Amino acid sequence: MKGKRLLMIPGPIEFTLEVLAEMAKPTLSHTDQQFIEEFGQALEKMRKVWLAPNGQPFAIAGSGTLAMEIAAANITEPGDNVLIVHTGYFSERMADIFRLHGANVDIVQSAVGDIPEIDEVRRRLKSKNYKILSITHVDTSTGVRTDVKALSAAAQETNTLVVVDGVCAVAGEELRMEEWGVDIAFTASQKAIGVPPGLALLVTSKKAMESFRSRKSPVGAYYCDWQYWLPVMEAYEGRKSAYFGTPAVNLVRALNISLGQILDEGMEARFERHARNAAAFRAGLSTIGLSFVPVRKEIMANTLSAVYYPEGTDASILPLIAKNGAVLAGGLHPAIKTRYFRIGHMGMSDASEILAVLGSIEQGLATAGYSFEPGASLKAAQSALIQP
Ligand code: PMP
Repeated sequence: MKGKRLLMIPGPIEFTLEVLAEMAKPTLSHTDQQFIEEFGQALEKMRKVWLAPNGQPFAIAGSGTLAMEIAAANITEPGDNVLIVHTGYFSERMADIFRLHGANVDIVQSAVGDIPEIDEVRRRLKSKNYKILSITHVDTSTGVRTDVKALSAAAQETNTLVVVDGVCAVAGEELRMEEWGVDIAFTASQKAIGVPPGLALLVTSKKAMESFRSRKSPVGAYYCDWQYWLPVMEAYEGRKSAYFGTPAVNLVRALNISLGQILDEGMEARFERHARNAAAFRAGLSTIGLSFVPVRKEIMANTLSAVYYPEGTDASILPLIAKNGAVLAGGLHPAIKTRYFRIGHMGMSDASEILAVLGSIEQGLATAGYSFEPGASLKAAQSALIQP
């Protein structure tokens, strides 16, 4: 497509032509047999992508913030204690949502670009009767990835429900929902799932559903309430239609296509590709002197990079980079907002996109007067990509 720029923000991302073509089809009735079949298939595929063979999937029209609220609203009752592993802007949002639904929220804080120590989280979990531990898998404001496996294991010791905001992680970062004992993991369609914005996607454990069923007070948000959505999801999986709110027909059909593409690649191959591309991308940027918001390599996300503007430059490089082919995002974390930018590298993005984005960044930096050896970032990334 002439003049097309690569959309390399942390969502929405570049979508495959098959997904986009599916979106363009004439809209079917939500009771059409073909749509019923496709919605049923999409729900079955969600279990496979989340690696939760016994999980309950939900696909509901809305953005990731709706998924956050659905998770919190259905398992929180007024007075419940919730512990938040705080890694940035989106952990803060989750804390606000839990508070709105009546929870007493405590926070395990970390410095910007870092994650709290597991031992500190374990100590806090044992200090009070916490019903829920809330974790942001990848905080999109800092590019930091938490250790969901270890945090989840700590929560099992105190029988605490584990909620994972996987909006910038699911289908990109390793997540083994059932094996790790996660109770709710949610995302939104526009990120590594690879479907245009508009679907809130959650998978829940049996334990999460039991917690919902045993609640004594009503859910405090009508559109979020699983009592209305569960029969709809169960019906479509049983290849029947049911109605609560009109499903986002074209998005659900595109979801079925995208989840099929994800499963064709295979979850292990997908986790590995995201890790390889991220490492190559960062090898490129560090070669030309750029540094990252996450304070250690092991906690850098594979789905996006948060990068400090190099000496003498600022947000004015973003339009210069965009002019040279790649649309990137500015900072988001209030403490460092003006000092860094963000690049998404998730979904179907392949090695050639990684190289193209580095090329655009070099062009933008050169125009801004930043001094480096032209092509050095591409060479370093290419070396990392073609390593056996
Ligand atoms: N959580 C995380 C980790 C996110 O990255 C985002 C979106 N960037 C959200 C929640 C909220 O999603 P949405 O913007 O789709 O409402």
